[in-house]
Amino acid sequence: MKEKPIFQSSKSLDQQFAELSQDIPLTTYYNDPQVKPLPLQWGASEPTARGPVVASRNGNGVYKHNAIGSYQGCYNIYHALAVASHQLDPTYKADYTNAHPAHNFKQLDQWSSKEKIVSIDPFGHLAPWCFAKTAESNDVEIKPTISITKAHLQLTEMEQYVKQGELTVDGKVVVNEAGDIAVSKLAVDPVWYLPGVAKRFGISEIELRRALFNDTCGMYPELITRPDIKVFLPPIGGLTVYIFGNPDDIANPDKKLALRVHDSCGGSDVFGSDICTCRPYLMFGIKEAAKQAQQGGVGAVIYFQKEGRALGEVTKYLVYNARKRGGDTAAEYFKRTECIAGVRDMRFQQLMPDILHWLGITKIDRMLSMSNMKYDAIVESGIEIIERVPIPEDMIPADGQVEIDAKIQAGYFTTGHQITKEELKNTKGRDYSDLK
Ligand SMILES: [Zn+2]
Repeated sequence: MKEKPIFQSSKSLDQQFAELSQDIPLTTYYNDPQVKPLPLQWGASEPTARGPVVASRNGNGVYKHNAIGSYQGCYNIYHALAVASHQLDPTYKADYTNAHPAHNFKQLDQWSSKEKIVSIDPFGHLAPWCFAKTAESNDVEIKPTISITKAHLQLTEMEQYVKQGELTVDGKVVVNEAGDIAVSKLAVDPVWYLPGVAKRFGISEIELRRALFNDTCGMYPELITRPDIKVFLPPIGGLTVYIFGNPDDIANPDKKLALRVHDSCGGSDVFGSDICTCRPYLMFGIKEAAKQAQQGGVGAVIYFQKEGRALGEVTKYLVYNARKRGGDTAAEYFKRTECIAGVRDMRFQQLMPDILHWLGITKIDRMLSMSNMKYDAIVESGIEIIERVPIPEDMIPADGQVEIDAKIQAGYFTTGHQITKEELKNTKGRDYSDLK
Protein backbone atom coordinates (compact mmCIF):
# COMPACT_ATOMS: atom_id res chain seq x y z
CA MET A 1 0.00 0.00 0.00
CA LYS A 2 1.16 3.52 -0.76
CA GLU A 3 2.43 5.31 2.28
CA LYS A 4 0.36 8.35 3.19
CA PRO A 5 1.85 11.56 4.56
CA ILE A 6 1.00 12.10 8.22
CA PHE A 7 -1.72 14.73 8.49
CA GLN A 8 -0.37 18.00 9.76
CA SER A 9 -2.33 21.14 10.38
CA SER A 10 -1.06 24.62 11.13
CA LYS A 11 -4.24 25.22 13.17
CA SER A 12 -4.42 24.69 16.91
CA LEU A 13 -6.20 21.65 18.29
CA ASP A 14 -8.99 23.92 19.59
CA GLN A 15 -9.52 25.38 16.11
CA GLN A 16 -9.57 21.91 14.57
CA PHE A 17 -12.17 20.73 17.08
CA ALA A 18 -14.30 23.82 16.43
CA GLU A 19 -14.29 23.01 12.71
CA LEU A 20 -15.02 19.35 13.41
CA SER A 21 -18.12 20.18 15.43
CA GLN A 22 -19.33 22.41 12.56
CA ASP A 23 -18.74 19.60 10.06
CA ILE A 24 -20.49 17.09 12.29
CA PRO A 25 -23.19 18.91 14.26
CA LEU A 26 -24.45 17.16 17.36
CA THR A 27 -28.05 16.66 16.41
CA THR A 28 -28.99 14.09 18.95
CA TYR A 29 -31.88 15.97 20.52
CA TYR A 30 -35.54 15.11 20.17
CA ASN A 31 -37.37 17.25 17.58
CA ASP A 32 -34.12 18.46 16.01
CA PRO A 33 -35.14 19.29 12.41
CA GLN A 34 -31.96 17.74 11.09
CA VAL A 35 -32.97 14.35 12.44
CA LYS A 36 -35.66 12.58 10.48
CA PRO A 37 -35.73 8.95 11.57
CA LEU A 38 -37.26 6.60 9.01
CA PRO A 39 -40.48 4.96 10.28
CA LEU A 40 -39.99 1.77 12.30
CA GLN A 41 -42.99 -0.01 13.83
CA TRP A 42 -41.63 -2.93 15.87
CA GLY A 43 -44.16 -5.76 15.77
CA ALA A 44 -45.77 -4.85 12.42
CA SER A 45 -46.77 -7.89 10.41
CA GLU A 46 -45.04 -7.22 7.09
CA PRO A 47 -41.48 -6.01 6.57
CA THR A 48 -42.60 -2.99 4.56
CA ALA A 49 -45.10 -1.98 7.28
CA ARG A 50 -42.48 -2.59 9.97
CA GLY A 51 -39.81 -0.58 8.16
CA PRO A 52 -36.04 -1.18 8.08
CA VAL A 53 -33.63 -0.88 11.00
CA VAL A 54 -31.39 1.98 9.84
CA ALA A 55 -28.05 2.69 11.49
CA SER A 56 -26.22 4.54 8.76
CA ARG A 57 -25.78 8.16 7.77
CA ASN A 58 -27.55 9.77 4.87
CA GLY A 59 -25.22 11.01 2.14
CA ASN A 60 -26.83 14.49 2.25
CA GLY A 61 -26.02 14.98 5.90
CA VAL A 62 -29.60 14.41 7.08
CA TYR A 63 -29.80 12.00 9.98
CA LYS A 64 -32.34 9.32 9.02
CA HIS A 65 -31.22 6.51 11.30
CA ASN A 66 -33.93 5.00 13.46
CA ALA A 67 -31.64 2.90 15.64
CA ILE A 68 -29.08 3.93 18.26
CA GLY A 69 -25.65 2.39 17.77
CA SER A 70 -24.24 0.92 14.59
CA TYR A 71 -24.46 -2.11 12.34
CA GLN A 72 -22.10 -5.06 12.94
CA GLY A 73 -21.97 -4.64 16.70
CA CYS A 74 -18.46 -4.20 18.10
CA TYR A 75 -16.94 -4.69 14.64
CA ASN A 76 -18.11 -1.25 13.64
CA ILE A 77 -14.97 0.13 15.28
CA TYR A 78 -12.83 -1.74 12.73
CA HIS A 79 -15.01 -0.27 10.00
CA ALA A 80 -14.30 3.18 11.46
CA LEU A 81 -10.56 2.42 11.49
CA ALA A 82 -10.72 1.42 7.83
CA VAL A 83 -12.40 4.76 7.05
CA ALA A 84 -10.06 6.79 9.30
CA SER A 85 -6.98 5.26 7.69
CA HIS A 86 -8.32 5.99 4.17
CA GLN A 87 -8.62 2.32 3.27
CA LEU A 88 -12.40 2.47 2.92
CA ASP A 89 -14.49 5.12 1.22
CA PRO A 90 -17.01 6.24 3.87
CA THR A 91 -19.72 6.43 1.19
CA TYR A 92 -19.10 2.85 0.02
CA LYS A 93 -22.28 0.79 -0.18
CA ALA A 94 -22.18 -3.00 -0.19
CA ASP A 95 -22.93 -4.99 -3.34
CA TYR A 96 -24.97 -7.97 -2.10
CA THR A 97 -25.12 -9.88 -5.39
CA ASN A 98 -25.68 -13.60 -4.56
CA ALA A 99 -25.35 -12.94 -0.81
CA HIS A 100 -29.05 -13.63 -0.14
CA PRO A 101 -29.97 -16.42 2.35
CA ALA A 102 -29.00 -19.99 1.41
CA HIS A 103 -32.23 -21.16 3.02
CA ASN A 104 -35.57 -19.42 2.84
CA PHE A 105 -37.12 -19.50 6.34
CA LYS A 106 -40.88 -19.03 6.21
CA GLN A 107 -42.22 -15.97 8.00
CA LEU A 108 -43.87 -16.95 11.29
CA ASP A 109 -46.55 -15.18 13.34
CA GLN A 110 -44.11 -14.43 16.18
CA TRP A 111 -41.91 -12.40 13.83
CA SER A 112 -44.56 -9.73 14.23
CA SER A 113 -44.95 -9.99 17.98
CA LYS A 114 -43.82 -7.00 20.02
CA GLU A 115 -43.01 -9.31 22.94
CA LYS A 116 -41.89 -12.71 21.64
CA ILE A 117 -38.86 -11.35 19.79
CA VAL A 118 -37.18 -8.23 21.22
CA SER A 119 -33.44 -8.81 20.78
CA ILE A 120 -33.07 -9.69 17.09
CA ASP A 121 -34.56 -8.17 13.94
CA PRO A 122 -37.01 -10.77 12.58
CA PHE A 123 -36.51 -9.35 9.07
CA GLY A 124 -32.76 -8.85 9.47
CA HIS A 125 -31.89 -11.51 6.86
CA LEU A 126 -33.98 -9.78 4.17
CA ALA A 127 -33.07 -6.15 4.90
CA PRO A 128 -31.01 -5.15 1.83
CA TRP A 129 -33.45 -6.78 -0.57
CA CYS A 130 -36.88 -5.95 0.81
CA PHE A 131 -35.91 -2.38 1.73
CA ALA A 132 -33.93 -1.63 -1.45
CA LYS A 133 -36.35 1.10 -2.56
CA THR A 134 -36.35 2.79 0.87
CA ALA A 135 -32.55 2.71 0.88
CA GLU A 136 -32.33 4.26 -2.56
CA SER A 137 -34.96 6.96 -2.12
CA ASN A 138 -33.50 8.05 1.23
CA ASP A 139 -29.85 7.64 0.25
CA VAL A 140 -29.08 5.45 3.26
CA GLU A 141 -27.43 2.07 3.48
CA ILE A 142 -29.59 -0.67 5.00
CA LYS A 143 -27.50 -3.61 6.16
CA PRO A 144 -28.64 -7.12 7.09
CA THR A 145 -28.29 -8.19 10.72
CA ILE A 146 -28.78 -11.89 9.94
CA SER A 147 -27.05 -13.98 7.27
CA ILE A 148 -27.74 -17.59 6.33
CA THR A 149 -25.32 -19.99 4.65
CA LYS A 150 -24.35 -23.68 4.37
CA ALA A 151 -21.13 -25.48 5.29
CA HIS A 152 -19.36 -28.73 6.19
CA LEU A 153 -17.77 -29.13 9.63
CA GLN A 154 -14.50 -31.05 10.01
CA LEU A 155 -13.89 -31.92 13.65
CA THR A 156 -11.50 -34.55 14.96
CA GLU A 157 -14.07 -35.65 17.54
CA MET A 158 -16.61 -36.46 14.81
CA GLU A 159 -13.98 -38.50 12.96
CA GLN A 160 -13.40 -40.43 16.20
CA TYR A 161 -17.14 -40.94 16.69
CA VAL A 162 -17.37 -42.44 13.18
CA LYS A 163 -14.38 -44.74 13.91
CA GLN A 164 -15.95 -45.85 17.21
CA GLY A 165 -19.30 -46.50 15.52
CA GLU A 166 -21.07 -43.76 17.51
CA LEU A 167 -21.90 -41.91 14.30
CA THR A 168 -22.73 -43.59 11.02
CA VAL A 169 -21.97 -42.20 7.60
CA ASP A 170 -25.23 -41.58 5.73
CA GLY A 171 -23.84 -39.31 3.01
CA LYS A 172 -26.34 -36.63 3.99
CA VAL A 173 -25.72 -35.41 7.54
CA VAL A 174 -22.45 -37.24 8.16
CA VAL A 175 -21.12 -37.00 4.66
CA ASN A 176 -18.01 -39.23 4.73
CA GLU A 177 -15.73 -41.53 6.76
CA ALA A 178 -13.74 -38.51 7.95
CA GLY A 179 -16.85 -37.46 9.90
CA ASP A 180 -17.56 -34.29 7.93
CA ILE A 181 -20.95 -32.91 8.94
CA ALA A 182 -23.30 -30.91 6.71
CA VAL A 183 -24.92 -27.88 8.33
CA SER A 184 -26.99 -24.83 7.56
CA LYS A 185 -25.93 -21.88 9.65
CA LEU A 186 -27.13 -18.43 10.59
CA ALA A 187 -25.13 -15.54 12.01
CA VAL A 188 -27.25 -13.09 14.01
CA ASP A 189 -26.31 -9.64 15.30
CA PRO A 190 -28.29 -8.33 18.27
CA VAL A 191 -30.99 -5.71 17.60
CA TRP A 192 -32.73 -4.61 20.78
CA TYR A 193 -36.21 -3.18 20.90
CA LEU A 194 -35.68 -1.27 24.14
CA PRO A 195 -39.26 -1.31 25.54
CA GLY A 196 -39.38 -5.08 24.96
CA VAL A 197 -35.95 -5.72 26.49
CA ALA A 198 -36.89 -3.63 29.54
CA LYS A 199 -40.13 -5.57 29.95
CA ARG A 200 -38.25 -8.90 29.74
CA PHE A 201 -36.11 -7.81 32.71
CA GLY A 202 -39.07 -6.38 34.62
CA ILE A 203 -37.65 -2.84 34.60
CA SER A 204 -38.73 0.44 33.00
CA GLU A 205 -37.38 1.59 29.65
CA ILE A 206 -35.91 4.64 31.41
CA GLU A 207 -34.01 2.48 33.91
CA LEU A 208 -32.59 0.43 31.05
CA ARG A 209 -31.61 3.51 29.02
CA ARG A 210 -30.01 5.18 32.04
CA ALA A 211 -27.92 2.12 32.90
CA LEU A 212 -26.81 1.61 29.29
CA PHE A 213 -25.83 5.29 29.01
CA ASN A 214 -23.99 5.40 32.33
CA ASP A 215 -22.25 2.05 32.03
CA THR A 216 -20.91 2.86 28.55
CA CYS A 217 -19.62 6.19 29.91
CA GLY A 218 -22.01 8.15 27.74
CA MET A 219 -21.02 6.41 24.51
CA TYR A 220 -24.60 6.58 23.15
CA PRO A 221 -26.14 10.00 24.04
CA GLU A 222 -29.30 9.18 22.08
CA LEU A 223 -30.20 6.62 24.74
CA ILE A 224 -31.20 9.55 26.94
CA THR A 225 -31.99 12.25 24.37
CA ARG A 226 -34.13 10.40 21.82
CA PRO A 227 -37.14 8.70 23.41
CA ASP A 228 -38.62 8.39 19.91
CA ILE A 229 -35.80 6.05 18.82
CA LYS A 230 -36.70 2.69 20.34
CA VAL A 231 -34.14 0.35 18.78
CA PHE A 232 -30.55 -0.08 19.97
CA LEU A 233 -27.79 -2.05 18.23
CA PRO A 234 -25.59 -2.97 21.20
CA PRO A 235 -21.81 -3.32 20.73
CA ILE A 236 -21.80 -6.93 21.89
CA GLY A 237 -21.30 -10.30 20.23
CA GLY A 238 -24.17 -12.04 18.52
CA LEU A 239 -24.95 -15.70 18.02
CA THR A 240 -24.62 -18.44 15.42
CA VAL A 241 -27.15 -21.21 14.79
CA TYR A 242 -25.92 -24.52 13.38
CA ILE A 243 -28.75 -26.67 12.03
CA PHE A 244 -28.32 -30.37 11.28
CA GLY A 245 -30.91 -31.79 8.86
CA ASN A 246 -33.64 -29.88 7.03
CA PRO A 247 -33.91 -26.34 8.49
CA ASP A 248 -37.69 -26.35 7.85
CA ASP A 249 -38.08 -29.29 10.23
CA ILE A 250 -37.01 -27.19 13.22
CA ALA A 251 -40.46 -25.52 13.24
CA ASN A 252 -42.30 -28.83 12.70
CA PRO A 253 -43.57 -30.16 16.04
CA ASP A 254 -43.87 -33.66 14.51
CA LYS A 255 -40.09 -33.81 14.07
CA LYS A 256 -37.94 -34.59 17.08
CA LEU A 257 -35.49 -31.82 17.97
CA ALA A 258 -32.16 -32.18 19.81
CA LEU A 259 -30.80 -28.78 20.83
CA ARG A 260 -27.77 -27.38 22.58
CA VAL A 261 -27.57 -23.72 23.60
CA HIS A 262 -23.85 -23.08 24.12
CA ASP A 263 -22.15 -19.95 25.42
CA SER A 264 -18.71 -19.35 23.94
CA CYS A 265 -15.53 -20.36 25.71
CA GLY A 266 -12.50 -19.68 23.51
CA GLY A 267 -10.12 -21.37 25.94
CA SER A 268 -11.87 -24.72 25.76
CA ASP A 269 -13.97 -24.59 22.54
CA VAL A 270 -11.03 -23.58 20.35
CA PHE A 271 -7.84 -24.26 22.32
CA GLY A 272 -8.84 -27.32 24.34
CA SER A 273 -8.14 -25.97 27.83
CA ASP A 274 -9.10 -28.67 30.35
CA ILE A 275 -10.38 -26.44 33.17
CA CYS A 276 -14.02 -26.68 32.03
CA THR A 277 -16.42 -28.92 30.13
CA CYS A 278 -17.20 -26.52 27.27
CA ARG A 279 -15.62 -28.21 24.25
CA PRO A 280 -16.53 -31.75 25.34
CA TYR A 281 -20.16 -30.71 25.85
CA LEU A 282 -20.15 -28.80 22.54
CA MET A 283 -18.82 -31.87 20.68
CA PHE A 284 -21.35 -34.11 22.42
CA GLY A 285 -24.04 -31.61 21.41
CA ILE A 286 -22.96 -31.63 17.75
CA LYS A 287 -22.90 -35.45 17.71
CA GLU A 288 -26.35 -35.75 19.29
CA ALA A 289 -27.80 -33.04 17.04
CA ALA A 290 -26.41 -34.81 13.95
CA LYS A 291 -27.76 -38.17 15.16
CA GLN A 292 -31.23 -36.69 15.70
CA ALA A 293 -31.20 -35.45 12.10
CA GLN A 294 -30.13 -38.90 10.89
CA GLN A 295 -33.03 -40.45 12.80
CA GLY A 296 -35.56 -38.37 10.85
CA GLY A 297 -35.60 -35.40 13.23
CA VAL A 298 -33.51 -32.28 13.32
CA GLY A 299 -30.67 -30.96 15.47
CA ALA A 300 -29.36 -27.52 16.35
CA VAL A 301 -26.50 -25.97 18.26
CA ILE A 302 -26.86 -22.29 19.07
CA TYR A 303 -23.58 -20.61 19.91
CA PHE A 304 -23.76 -17.33 21.82
CA GLN A 305 -20.81 -14.94 21.98
CA LYS A 306 -20.87 -14.65 25.77
CA GLU A 307 -17.27 -15.37 26.70
CA GLY A 308 -16.60 -16.20 30.34
CA ARG A 309 -20.28 -16.08 31.34
CA ALA A 310 -20.41 -12.72 29.54
CA LEU A 311 -17.83 -11.33 31.97
CA GLY A 312 -15.16 -11.44 29.26
CA GLU A 313 -11.94 -13.38 28.97
CA VAL A 314 -9.81 -10.95 31.02
CA THR A 315 -12.11 -11.38 34.03
CA LYS A 316 -12.20 -15.12 33.42
CA TYR A 317 -8.41 -15.50 33.67
CA LEU A 318 -8.34 -13.35 36.81
CA VAL A 319 -10.90 -15.72 38.30
CA TYR A 320 -8.74 -18.71 37.27
CA ASN A 321 -5.80 -17.18 39.13
CA ALA A 322 -7.89 -16.51 42.22
CA ARG A 323 -9.18 -20.09 42.13
CA LYS A 324 -5.84 -21.78 41.55
CA ARG A 325 -4.06 -19.75 44.23
CA GLY A 326 -6.89 -20.27 46.69
CA GLY A 327 -7.14 -24.05 46.89
CA ASP A 328 -9.63 -24.39 43.99
CA THR A 329 -12.43 -26.34 45.61
CA ALA A 330 -15.93 -26.67 44.18
CA ALA A 331 -17.21 -25.14 47.43
CA GLU A 332 -15.40 -21.86 46.64
CA TYR A 333 -15.94 -21.95 42.87
CA PHE A 334 -18.64 -19.28 42.53
CA LYS A 335 -17.22 -17.14 45.34
CA ARG A 336 -14.05 -16.53 43.32
CA THR A 337 -16.08 -15.12 40.41
CA GLU A 338 -18.27 -13.07 42.75
CA CYS A 339 -15.19 -11.52 44.40
CA ILE A 340 -13.94 -10.18 41.07
CA ALA A 341 -17.10 -9.55 39.03
CA GLY A 342 -19.60 -8.85 41.80
CA VAL A 343 -21.92 -11.50 40.38
CA ARG A 344 -21.37 -15.09 39.33
CA ASP A 345 -22.90 -14.81 35.87
CA MET A 346 -23.88 -12.03 33.44
CA ARG A 347 -25.28 -14.13 30.62
CA PHE A 348 -28.87 -13.17 31.41
CA GLN A 349 -30.71 -15.93 29.58
CA GLN A 350 -33.95 -13.87 29.37
CA LEU A 351 -33.17 -12.78 25.79
CA MET A 352 -31.79 -16.14 24.65
CA PRO A 353 -35.14 -17.77 23.69
CA ASP A 354 -35.79 -15.08 21.02
CA ILE A 355 -33.84 -17.03 18.43
CA LEU A 356 -35.76 -20.22 19.30
CA HIS A 357 -39.04 -18.38 18.65
CA TRP A 358 -37.67 -16.88 15.45
CA LEU A 359 -36.87 -20.41 14.24
CA GLY A 360 -40.38 -21.59 15.17
CA ILE A 361 -39.35 -24.01 17.91
CA THR A 362 -42.34 -24.99 20.07
CA LYS A 363 -40.83 -27.97 21.91
CA ILE A 364 -37.39 -29.46 22.50
CA ASP A 365 -37.29 -33.25 22.67
CA ARG A 366 -33.70 -33.50 23.88
CA MET A 367 -32.17 -30.45 25.56
CA LEU A 368 -28.40 -30.98 25.56
CA SER A 369 -27.68 -28.70 28.50
CA MET A 370 -27.63 -28.95 32.27
CA SER A 371 -28.13 -25.22 32.89
CA ASN A 372 -31.13 -24.43 35.06
CA MET A 373 -30.96 -20.80 33.90
CA LYS A 374 -31.30 -21.77 30.23
CA TYR A 375 -34.00 -24.31 31.06
CA ASP A 376 -36.05 -21.80 33.08
CA ALA A 377 -35.77 -19.09 30.41
CA ILE A 378 -36.86 -21.44 27.62
CA VAL A 379 -39.76 -22.99 29.54
CA GLU A 380 -40.94 -19.60 30.84
CA SER A 381 -41.00 -18.33 27.25
CA GLY A 382 -43.54 -21.03 26.39
CA ILE A 383 -41.36 -23.76 24.85
CA GLU A 384 -41.71 -27.27 26.25
CA ILE A 385 -38.59 -29.27 27.13
CA ILE A 386 -39.25 -33.00 27.14
CA GLU A 387 -35.88 -34.50 28.13
CA ARG A 388 -32.71 -32.97 29.56
CA VAL A 389 -29.42 -34.65 28.67
CA PRO A 390 -26.33 -34.01 30.84
CA ILE A 391 -22.77 -34.33 29.56
CA PRO A 392 -21.62 -37.97 29.89
CA GLU A 393 -19.41 -38.22 32.98
CA ASP A 394 -16.51 -39.76 31.09
CA MET A 395 -16.27 -36.58 28.97
CA ILE A 396 -15.56 -34.33 31.96
CA PRO A 397 -11.86 -33.41 32.18
CA ALA A 398 -10.39 -34.03 35.67
CA ASP A 399 -9.80 -30.31 36.28
CA GLY A 400 -13.30 -29.48 35.01
CA GLN A 401 -14.93 -31.50 37.79
CA VAL A 402 -14.70 -28.47 40.12
CA GLU A 403 -16.93 -26.42 37.81
CA ILE A 404 -19.48 -29.13 37.10
CA ASP A 405 -19.86 -30.17 40.76
CA ALA A 406 -20.28 -26.54 41.85
CA LYS A 407 -22.90 -25.99 39.14
CA ILE A 408 -24.83 -29.16 40.02
CA GLN A 409 -24.93 -28.12 43.66
CA ALA A 410 -26.14 -24.66 42.57
CA GLY A 411 -29.05 -26.08 40.58
CA TYR A 412 -27.71 -27.58 37.32
CA PHE A 413 -29.59 -30.62 36.10
CA THR A 414 -28.08 -34.06 36.58
CA THR A 415 -29.27 -37.61 36.23
CA GLY A 416 -26.42 -38.68 38.49
CA HIS A 417 -25.58 -38.01 42.11
CA GLN A 418 -27.00 -34.82 43.70
CA ILE A 419 -23.92 -33.20 45.22
CA THR A 420 -24.23 -31.83 48.73
CA LYS A 421 -22.58 -28.64 50.02
CA GLU A 422 -20.38 -30.76 52.29
CA GLU A 423 -19.16 -32.88 49.36
CA LEU A 424 -18.20 -29.77 47.39
CA LYS A 425 -15.25 -29.22 49.74
CA ASN A 426 -13.76 -32.50 48.54
CA THR A 427 -13.84 -31.68 44.82
CA LYS A 428 -10.52 -30.02 44.24
CA GLY A 429 -8.76 -28.89 41.07
CA ARG A 430 -5.08 -28.54 40.39
CA ASP A 431 -3.22 -25.65 41.89
CA TYR A 432 -0.43 -23.84 40.07
CA SER A 433 2.29 -26.06 41.52
CA ASP A 434 0.75 -28.95 39.55
CA LEU A 435 0.96 -27.11 36.23
CA LYS A 436 4.02 -27.56 34.03
ZN1 LIG B 1 -15.23 -23.20 29.32
